[in-house]
Formats: sequence, C-alpha cells, structure tokens
Amino acid sequence: MNRRWMLKTHGDPLGRVRTFLGDVWQQLELDSLLVPNTDCGINQLELRRLDSPGQLHQVNPFQPLMTANTARYLPGLLNVCSDARMGVLLRPCEMRALVEMVKHDSLRLDRLFTICIDCLGTLPQDEYEWRAARKGSPGALAQEALQFARQGGIVPYRYRSACQMCFSPEAKGGDVNLHVLGLPARQYLLFDVGSEAVAEKLGLNMKSPVAKESLVLSEWDKAVATLVDRRIRARDRVSHSLAATLPDTTRDITEMLEGCGNCQECLKVCPICAVDFPDRRAGGHYADHEVARWLMSCDGCGMCEEACPEHRPLSAIFGHMRELLTEPSGYVPGRSLEEPLPLN
Ligand code: SF4
Ligand code: SF4
Ligand code: SF4
Repeated sequence: MNRRWMLKTHGDPLGRVRTFLGDVWQQLELDSLLVPNTDCGINQLELRRLDSPGQLHQVNPFQPLMTANTARYLPGLLNVCSDARMGVLLRPCEMRALVEMVKHDSLRLDRLFTICIDCLGTLPQDEYEWRAARKGSPGALAQEALQFARQGGIVPYRYRSACQMCFSPEAKGGDVNLHVLGLPARQYLLFDVGSEAVAEKLGLNMKSPVAKESLVLSEWDKAVATLVDRRIRARDRVSHSLAATLPDTTRDITEMLEGCGNCQECLKVCPICAVDFPDRRAGGHYADHEVARWLMSCDGCGMCEEACPEHRPLSAIFGHMRELLTEPSGYVPGRSLEEPLPLN
C-alpha cells in the first residue's frame, strides 16, 4: 500500500510512538510485543517480550545501538511461545533478514505482526556507552538522535561500518512501517501499513492519508535518497581501500572460513544461519554452494563483524560477496517474500 498517514507528535516523538504502539497493540489484539530492552543500564540492550501495553514506557526504538539481530531469535521464540499473535519491532535490516529466513526455512509468519521503523543508524558499543555517559543517559542519546532525524541521525561517521554502508535504512515490508528519516520529529512522523486488512483494523479507512503531492512525502523521499547516496559512496570508498582483501568467488570466502579453525562466531550470530547453517564437513570444509546460498541473503546488519574476534571487515567482505552473487539476477535480499532466491 502506498498511502501514508501522519502521526502528530506535539513535541514528544518518543511518547507519541509509544502511544501509537499501544493503539496498534490493542486494535490488532496482540498478545505480546518483542522489543529491544532499553531499560537495563548503559551497556545492555537485550530483547524483551512485553505482555501488556502498560510496559511500553520501557520501549525506545531510537537508541543508536544494536547488539543482536532480533530476527535471529524469532524461529526459536515462535516455537516455545504459545501466543496467538506476537508483535515485534524491527529495524529495516532485521525486517530484510526475516523475509530471507522465510525463504530459507519456510518460517511461518502468520502468528507474527511486524512493526518496522526507519533506522537512524547505530554506533559501536564502546562509542554508544561513551556518548550515553556524556549525555547523562541512553535515553538522552536517543532523544538527540531523534532531534537530528531530519539530517538522518547523529555522527554518521561514527556509526558501525555496516550502518555507514547500509543500502536501505527505510522501513518497509512490515505490517506497519513507521517513518522518521528526514522529518521534523517533534512535529510529526509518518506511517504506512502492509495490507488493507491492517488498515481496516486500525480504522485508517476513516482517516485521510497525506496527499500524494504533499511536500511532507517528498521530504522523506529526499532524505532517504540522500542517505542512500551517501552510503553508496561510503561503501565504494571502503571497497576501494579493501580491494586486495575482497573476495572474487565464493571459494575465497569458504577458504577464509576454513582458515579460521573452530571459530564460527560470524555464523552463530547471523540470522540467515539461524535457519540455514552451512554444514561443516570432514576436514572442516564448507560446501561453496551452501556458503553462496547463505550470503546471497545477507541483509547487511553487520552483526557478524561485531562478533569476529579477528576484527575482520566482514560487512564489506560479505556485502561484496552478496553483490557478486545477486547482481546477475538483480535479486535484492529482503525486498519481497514473493521474489525467489536466485539459486541455480
Ligand atoms: S544496518 Fe541499516 S537498518 Fe541495520 S542498524 Fe545499521 S543503519 Fe540500521
Ligand atoms: S552475514 Fe553478517 S551482515 Fe549478513 S546477515 Fe549475516 S550477520 Fe548480517
Ligand atoms: S568470526 Fe571471524 S574469525 Fe571467526 S569464523 Fe568468522 S571470520 Fe573467521
């Protein structure tokens, strides 16, 4: 659906987003909501399952920190949790991961309600802790990120390298997509929904969407285009500086992984590997086609790079491999559930 609605924030965007989430929770009759836990100190940001809208004051989706790809935990949670309807807040890279996981493992999303939020970028953990301490609290840092939503976030040159090269920071593909990039967040945000059924449940057919020719929509479009352009240039600079270490074929990646001994940290944190882990055969060998099947679905979240004890620039390495694997078919990971994996 390409209609968008305005969410007036009256000077308190975070408070308004929490109220909006509460409304969605009630109107969609969710049993629980899975969120990043931002209420447990500066250096922890774990996932948390809320079971009542009264707990939404603990939610802050604008914290510039990502310590795990939420999508990675969803198959396990859906297995053990009997909730008929579970909501989940996702960053765009997590939403892309979820779409790819469905294709790898026939993961069923019928009990899951996804809320995707434009991403203002995330910092490395030490940088986040330092900035949060300087600001007085993680909440104050998130407020600053929101204040700079119009410019696309704070200190982009300090972001994790995956975020500096993120090819798609805008919310899409969710049952509800909430937009903040390029917008005056203290005045309003925008949102859209994934289907007529959701629009109806949220009573949106009674509310006027923002007019197609409105400047409000073009502000968001322009901000996203500028950001993506900046990130393509960042990715080109990184690729240029790492040219000698980037892979030419899947075999290069396979050999790199085989040379890492027993370490599989990058695979263990990867959401795609959570449902389709490349097997290790006798002698520690990986099959090239399994590594290719993994990396053609790479969502660019960069959790592998955060986990690598050798500090390898895995966002650039795996991102480059993804492009080599998907360019011939024009496949874009996470773009659509209907687009099949480009497997030979
Ligand atoms: S990779 Fe993109 S969507 Fe994911 S945290 Fe970074 S900027 Fe956000
Ligand atoms: S390979 Fe790395 S960047 Fe790609 S989806 Fe897995 S963890 Fe994220
Ligand atoms: S995390 Fe780093 S060292 Fe470990 S297997 Fe991956 S690339 Fe190798």
